[in-house]
Amino acid sequence: MKTVSFTDGRPRIPVGKILCLGQNYAAHAKEMKAETPTVPVVFLKPSTALLESGGTVRLPVMSRDVHHEVEMVIVIGKTGSRIAAHHAMDFVAGYAVGLDMTMRDVQADAKKRGHPWAVAKGFDTSAPLSPAVPKDEIADPHNLDLSLRVNGSIRQSSNTGKMIFRVPDIIAYLSSVFTLEEGDLIFTGTPEGVGPVGPGDTLEATLQSVGSLKVKVD
Ligand code: MG
Repeated sequence: MKTVSFTDGRPRIPVGKILCLGQNYAAHAKEMKAETPTVPVVFLKPSTALLESGGTVRLPVMSRDVHHEVEMVIVIGKTGSRIAAHHAMDFVAGYAVGLDMTMRDVQADAKKRGHPWAVAKGFDTSAPLSPAVPKDEIADPHNLDLSLRVNGSIRQSSNTGKMIFRVPDIIAYLSSVFTLEEGDLIFTGTPEGVGPVGPGDTLEATLQSVGSLKVKVD
């Protein structure tokens, strides 16, 4: 069973469902030639997609174009459904930095055919995740620098203040559909600058006040 660790040494918790937002930064929606969403674009990854920092992203043989997407990740701390936005922060255990690894060619084909993104987004090792920082240590999750380096070169650099849907609204929206439980993860979307990775690459994702995540690609 996959688990999430915390930087303060509290016990690890089993990972539940992994909910993800797409196109939550206008500049990324634009680079994907998508319209800026008026309701959240939501998809899921299985818990088996999780990969801890220090691990290796295994490129699926079916894709020739696997992309990095650096994202802030919300770790849910307790059960709730139909959560009001003004109560949403009570359900957050902490924040981590993650990568939403995506088979872009497989996703593009699925979009063209009107098919789901499960294969393109949910493969093994498609969800690298750093240890989580307790929420009390994060003064404002909407003002954190977010970046991604490939082999030391900066590829993505933005700030969580540019998210279209913010943490309370994301939790309110998702919990109107899915009961949220301790250990659920919410990937909050990536800024612009996504691009391909290849065998031998080293990816380093950083989120201000949270820390970094380092994985290799094979
Ligand atoms: Mg993403």
